[in-house]
Amino acid sequence: MSAEDGLFPRLLKPGPRTRALWRGTLDVIFPPQAIDGGAAQAGGLTAPAWSRIQFLDGPVCDGCGVPFEFDIGSRCATCLAKPRAFDAARAACLYDDASREPILKLKHADRLDLAPLFARWLSRAAHGLIADCDAVVPVPLHPSRLLARRYNQAAEIARPLSRLTGLAYIPDALVRRRATETQGGKSGTGRRRNVAGAFEVPARRAAQVAGRRILLIDDVMTTGATAEGCARALKAAGALRVDVAVVARVKEMAGLTI
Ligand SMILES: [Zn+2]
Repeated sequence: MSAEDGLFPRLLKPGPRTRALWRGTLDVIFPPQAIDGGAAQAGGLTAPAWSRIQFLDGPVCDGCGVPFEFDIGSRCATCLAKPRAFDAARAACLYDDASREPILKLKHADRLDLAPLFARWLSRAAHGLIADCDAVVPVPLHPSRLLARRYNQAAEIARPLSRLTGLAYIPDALVRRRATETQGGKSGTGRRRNVAGAFEVPARRAAQVAGRRILLIDDVMTTGATAEGCARALKAAGALRVDVAVVARVKEMAGLTI
């Protein structure tokens, strides 16, 4: 029984609106634990933690979402040289010391309360893509990793994003056919090789993917190899378009080690 249930007599079961109001009151009384131990604001981030996040509000590459120092045109040199398997990508913020901590807390420390906050960030950063999409799909974990971690952080972000945007939510449109090694420490080529053929659309979901415009959700984009692997699988299943929305992305794509 949750604290919320226990505060209402059983016969006076509140409607959804009352429950939402009550939940808001509980958040004020018992604020979600803050990342840096201070008083939490705005979904678990304190004002100082929030102020250190570098949101990508300026000009970005139309293809991969990398920030431009100046508005130099629609696509970065990497995207011009080799078109991506996805159509366009957007990130809410830079992946750096400030954003790494809340992202890792969601991924490894059961801080699921951060997921709705990230969903709100994505709804803002990717609003131009969301307008042209039909459904949101999370980058999947391999079942063995899902078992160990108990939840998929990308799905935890995609679910509230679908509610915010009204887009359909297809949590199992993609599956990982095999457990890939961690991408950390690999070069762009190594990452692409690592995820090549790792994803597929299961037959039971093919009809929900064919002919639709998909917004793929992940927490972090580094070289984009994972997103491209997923986009190839979705397009092979007939997706009309695959866009990508991530919480954070690294600024440089080449030779990256994290
Ligand atoms: Zn680009």
